[in-house]
Amino acid sequence: MFLEYAFGPVSRPAMTRLLPPLELAGRMSRLGTENAFEVLARAKALEAQGKSIIHLEIGEPDFPTPDFIVEAGLQAIQDEANHHYGPAAGVPDVREAVAHHVAATRNVECSPLEVVMVPGSKPVMFYAMLALLEEGDEVILPDPGYPIYESMVSFSGAKPISCPLRSENNFAADPEELLSLITPATRMVILNSPGNPTGAVLPPESLDAIVEGLRNHPRIWLLTDEIYWRLIFDDAVHSSALSNPDIRERTILLDGWSKAYAMTGWRLGFGVMRPDLAEQVSRLMINSTSCTTTFVQRAGVVALEGDQAPIEAMKERFNRRRLHIVKLLNEIPGVTCALPQGAFYVFPDVSSFGLPSGEIAEKALQEAGVACLAGTSFGKAGEGFLRLSYAASLANIEEGIGRLRVILDELR
Ligand code: PMP
Repeated sequence: MFLEYAFGPVSRPAMTRLLPPLELAGRMSRLGTENAFEVLARAKALEAQGKSIIHLEIGEPDFPTPDFIVEAGLQAIQDEANHHYGPAAGVPDVREAVAHHVAATRNVECSPLEVVMVPGSKPVMFYAMLALLEEGDEVILPDPGYPIYESMVSFSGAKPISCPLRSENNFAADPEELLSLITPATRMVILNSPGNPTGAVLPPESLDAIVEGLRNHPRIWLLTDEIYWRLIFDDAVHSSALSNPDIRERTILLDGWSKAYAMTGWRLGFGVMRPDLAEQVSRLMINSTSCTTTFVQRAGVVALEGDQAPIEAMKERFNRRRLHIVKLLNEIPGVTCALPQGAFYVFPDVSSFGLPSGEIAEKALQEAGVACLAGTSFGKAGEGFLRLSYAASLANIEEGIGRLRVILDELR
């Protein structure tokens, strides 16, 4: 199944060839995955057999990329200047535009030398970890949290240390608990606000307390994953560790175009970090992808600088779906679902049904045709919860939650 996701439809005859055993490098056993893609592949396979599936599993906007960005991409690809290798760290004037954007949105000075353009935002975490972590180092990461953190930390040879995010704290990190996990081996702390899978937003005072605590630990880096920062609702405010001068030189910002601009397939992201680390990350770029696609970078600048009305309109539609899905979930006896303040996920508590959340998610897929994820796909602390993405139409949300309700009613 993974092969189908990774490579597209796999040629059956090729797969029946007899191959000698595959002797993999040991490090491959430390690599995890993103369960959302596996569930998507299984859901698609069921669809191919004629089964009706409601997709609430995958974390990408269901909207097309706004027209003005597509137009900019088309123009950029027609310009021969964008047909060749570019500098590993990114096109200089694109880095400059991103530095401006970061300065304006994080209320902080930012130099283009601190910006590295990468294909998607995932490489920011991968490269930062490869550049900084040694075997035996510890990295404190959110649980439940984006599964690639744990995977990448383990792959790099370091040790993931889970910081439980608790429902009674609205799934925001508790500064005291997080800081209590620090040991002499701690080299990095990962924050993700708004967070995947819970949609939780870290309150500014909690961020301040974490930064204050880290002042006494000058060897610890802070990786702040702000990929969902534009998708924030109600009176919640986004606060970025990058804005705090006390930790600025040890902060690595991860951001990109995938979520806010509905550009997951374009693969465009950026990191902001001190210039000497940016140079080292550029060396990893040279050794892996050479550079980020030049015309995609050009379209990215237009996305940042153009009329933001289509982006706000997408956000408003997400907001309506958010309110509706939470209402529908709370109407199911035995389910409680907090109203998340960011991203496009809800994380309902289904522990009252007495089944592991993996089994509930499996039943939902197989028996009701609702693709969603078990909370445990995001860490042990996700047991008792499901993650549903509301990057789906209101009609599909209604149908999906209606079907889920039938399954859950049978379990009571
Ligand atoms: N961080 C988080 C928390 C995410 O949820 C995702 C995507 N699911 C990413 C990073 C990676 O995004 P991109 O597509 O830009 O690589």
